[in-house]
Amino acid sequence: MADYIYPVARLIECFRRLPGVGSKSAARMAFGVLEMSPEDAEEFRAAIKGVKEDVRRCSVCCDLCDSDKCAVCSDPGRDQSVICVVEDSRTVSALERSHEFHGTYHVLGGVISPMNGITPDRLNVKELITRLNGTVNEVIIATNPNIEGETTAVYLSKLIRPLGVKVTRLAYGVPVGADLEFADSETLARALEGRREF
Ligand code: ZN
Repeated sequence: MADYIYPVARLIECFRRLPGVGSKSAARMAFGVLEMSPEDAEEFRAAIKGVKEDVRRCSVCCDLCDSDKCAVCSDPGRDQSVICVVEDSRTVSALERSHEFHGTYHVLGGVISPMNGITPDRLNVKELITRLNGTVNEVIIATNPNIEGETTAVYLSKLIRPLGVKVTRLAYGVPVGADLEFADSETLARALEGRREF
């Protein structure tokens, strides 16, 4: 970064720490900031400060929120007897965009991954079990369909089933708009497994 004067090099280095940002993009972003009006730059600074200071975890579902309880947990119209367990807040947003789910969520904050040192006690599992106090009938496990997601799903179902709560797994299938001919065999096998009556 010897080509840039220190304040610019420092900002480029900051952007480079973001996921998916390489040196070129980081430099473009830094110069973008340099060209901002002082008001826009201040807004930028305040937004970064805001996510670090004002965002916390919902006391019920552990999703990100800016008060004690998130919007879903505070909504009396949501079915409190169904909990959809997801890896992170981004999956909550994706499911909310589908407008198909009317229950509540539980955000694990990751998946079990012995290789990365992530054991169940590092996830929001205890908080999930605490919620299964007789009012919950079904837990839908919506972790990603990869090895770690599957391991986590199996772990949770073994933990939850003995409590008398129904445990289901999201059906995985062929993406809408995809060509069956080009779907990989694992995806097709899952799609068959998760078939339902038409
Ligand atoms: Zn919540």
